[in-house]
Amino acid sequence: QQTIRLSNVCKSYGNYPVLKNIDAEVARGEVVVICGPSGSGKSTLIRTINRLEEISSGSITLDGQDIHAEKRTKELNLLRSRIGFVFQNFNLFPHLSVVENVTISPIRVKGVAPDVAHERALKLLDRVGLAEKAGAYPGQLSGGQQQRVAIARALAMEPPVMLFDEPTSALDPEMVGEVLAVMKGLAAEGMTMLCVTHEMGFAREVADRIWFIDAGQILEIAPPEEFFKNP
Ligand code: ADP
Ligand code: ADP
Repeated sequence: QQTIRLSNVCKSYGNYPVLKNIDAEVARGEVVVICGPSGSGKSTLIRTINRLEEISSGSITLDGQDIHAEKRTKELNLLRSRIGFVFQNFNLFPHLSVVENVTISPIRVKGVAPDVAHERALKLLDRVGLAEKAGAYPGQLSGGQQQRVAIARALAMEPPVMLFDEPTSALDPEMVGEVLAVMKGLAAEGMTMLCVTHEMGFAREVADRIWFIDAGQILEIAPPEEFFKNP
């Protein structure tokens, strides 16, 4: 049943502890929203899950497989490809077209045939409402469109889990809704999701549980109806 399990995860930068004894689980199909003040460790926490950041101690498993123990490059890349990641600043390849951004990882990492990857990419772009932008370059798109391409790119690896690190924070306000709509669609389809976001409307409506983190510690894990209840 459990998908991601963090056990006693600690991380320090030098002597400065950023994550303190994090113990938490994400169940299959669950949508978790991580919230907390700026500098509390939200971004660091989510980045440790696909090993964009190393941890100092503890363990993080995906379906029982220890992500931080894997030392073999190929196995680690396969493991990481099962965890889709969407960044605040999109991180698209600027010199590749939209459709190439979506096909490159399946072709390179998974050995999917280019024509098969291309067909799947077009379907994913259609799903995020960008079929007509397949041949465009990221620089020609709005922020909201670029972020939807980034979501399609992550989905192209068919990950069982998607992580979002403030996916709407870099967007102009009028583009936030189109990205949240794609995320809501994924949640409705049963995707397991872990999202750092300040969008409390999304948290209320879509989250199964909220993790509240402060100064590197999880202080509360609760469903939104409980979390947002007036004290
Ligand atoms: P949040 O996402 O909640 O705003 P972060 O995870 O970005 O918090 O940062 C948590 C703390 O760790 C902050 O005090 C930040 O300054 C610090 N920090 C983040 N990255 C580094 C780093 N590479 N080196 C040193 N300190 C860092
Ligand atoms: P965000 O809150 O959007 O994550 P930050 O300003 O916290 O952005 O961090 C931006 C980058 O700088 C991140 O890669 C983070 O790891 C790094 N960083 C943050 N705080 C520090 C710090 N005190 N020392 C070194 N690097 C840091």
